[in-house]
Amino acid sequence: MVACECKEPHDRRRVVMTGGPGAGKTAVLELIRQSFCVHVKVLPEAAGVLFGGGFPRGESTGLRQAAQRAIFYVQRELESAVETDQPAITLCDRGTVDGAAYWQGTGDLWVSVGTTLEDQLRRYDAVIHLRTPDVDDGYNHRNPLRIETAGEAAAIDARILRMWEKHPRRYIVESSRNFMSKAARTIEILRSELPECCRHHMVPSLGEMPRTQDAEEAH
Ligand SMILES: [Zn+2]
Ligand SMILES: [Zn+2]
Repeated sequence: MVACECKEPHDRRRVVMTGGPGAGKTAVLELIRQSFCVHVKVLPEAAGVLFGGGFPRGESTGLRQAAQRAIFYVQRELESAVETDQPAITLCDRGTVDGAAYWQGTGDLWVSVGTTLEDQLRRYDAVIHLRTPDVDDGYNHRNPLRIETAGEAAAIDARILRMWEKHPRRYIVESSRNFMSKAARTIEILRSELPECCRHHMVPSLGEMPRTQDAEEAH
């Protein structure tokens, strides 16, 4: 995060970064954290907060549904928590709508938490979807935390894409072997969503960014 002299009051503006497994969301968000001014607040991923804090994980439908409800509530409150200090953009690492793509079993997430897809889509001003790479286009099998096969990852990506399809302001960043070109496209989109008062603060030009091995592998 970079200091910023902007003292303008900002309108609340929420942007979601989403995408299937292996799309490179985590690496892109890390780059964004370093590249924009303090008025772009990047939220932690609700699922990470919950599971990292010991929320039980398991395969049963009951447990999976409980987890999706918990993620929904935590996501909403993470958004409220950072918006108390008026950022120019709240950048969400997934939004409440993503949970529906992971729902399994009978019923649906919306009925279960007493809301509708339409209401949840309205929470966000823009959505950036990073596509999961195709099976032969660099899906990262080397990451030991990845439990999905490339086929499952593509299926999750397609479900997330469908969940957000009615959003009026959606950017789709196609997967690319070149991590930096994907990151550059995402940063350009986010910059266009930033109010003028904070835009000039954009930090290093992408040409100057280090091309590390890690970034290349992160996809
Ligand atoms: Zn700023
Ligand atoms: Zn500003």
